[in-house]
Amino acid sequence: MQNYKSLTRQQRTELIVSLGEKPYREKQIHLWICRGAESFADMTDLPGPFREKLSRACAFERAKVARRQLSEDGTRKFLLELSDGAMVEAVFMKYEYGNSVCLSTQAGCAMGCRFCASAIGGKQRDLAAWEILDEYFVCRRECGEDIGHIVLMGTGEPFDNYDQVSAFIDMAADPDGPKIGSRSITVSTCGLVPGIRRFGQDHPQVNLAVSLHAATQEERLAIMPVAKAYPLPELIGACRQHAELTGRRITFEYTLIEGVNDTRDHAEKLAALLKGMLCHVNLIPLNPVAETGMRGAGRKAAQAFAASLRSMGIPATVRRQLGSDIDAACGQLRRRCESK
Ligand code: SAH
Repeated sequence: MQNYKSLTRQQRTELIVSLGEKPYREKQIHLWICRGAESFADMTDLPGPFREKLSRACAFERAKVARRQLSEDGTRKFLLELSDGAMVEAVFMKYEYGNSVCLSTQAGCAMGCRFCASAIGGKQRDLAAWEILDEYFVCRRECGEDIGHIVLMGTGEPFDNYDQVSAFIDMAADPDGPKIGSRSITVSTCGLVPGIRRFGQDHPQVNLAVSLHAATQEERLAIMPVAKAYPLPELIGACRQHAELTGRRITFEYTLIEGVNDTRDHAEKLAALLKGMLCHVNLIPLNPVAETGMRGAGRKAAQAFAASLRSMGIPATVRRQLGSDIDAACGQLRRRCESK
């Protein structure tokens, strides 16, 4: 049976008309999807017989929770099975400023960053906007708490799935949906420059995070293949433009890898690269991923790196490592959860 949510809005309208209803019903159902309805039966402003016809004509699929893990720090990780069997992970976190979820935008990832678990096995497929939204609703339902912040930092590269990610942001912000304000959403990219440019135009209020991890083209290319297509000077140029266009601070994520990018000299090059830009550096001591053979800098070394950056005028903090005991921390999400 076809899945209603997988149809385009045009196809949905055609289906509705073929069932003898008016086209405006499509908009009504769309709002129910934005609100997190779990079935056609939930859509109480549709006529009962129409809801029954719809249920006979198509499925109203949603993600199933295949596995739940709870961290000592309250972080929760969910392995979700999508309607075609693809698996993605989503993570719920508690911060001082409120609850946040980290959502995946693709099953797997094609970007191939050497240190990241999501890259192992490559990309399986893009997620549709409604599937990303479904991750949000599953987390909210499972945790029984309101969630006011969304970060697109799970598996996948958001700008390698631009249209669906953009549609998701619109659905999340919909006044009839979960109403997550643009400023409470953060999209993280490994540096797809055309995506950054489009994003600044389409969603100037949404926060942008850029995974940098190195301050020279050569060092970046050694750990991030994306630097071949979009070299560092081009990326930094796009970031400077973005900050100027939107007036918003860009977050640069910098994963500290022992012996690779964690010395005082690296901090100096990084400070010179970012000089004068409206930005903030978020340092993440590398989280262990067995397959990569790389080791993280210690927390003390990370604090020292942050202090060097600040002394050179670049705002920098060390990210709290939530959920690392359940492999839910940055770079530890995968297409499948291996049992430990
Ligand atoms: N593809 C996007 C979204 C993923 S966000 C991006 O690259 O930005 C996940 C963040 O965790 C990225 O900054 C990524 O570079 C970082 N990361 C990947 N592997 C990591 C690891 N092992 N330890 C710490 N951070 C890691």
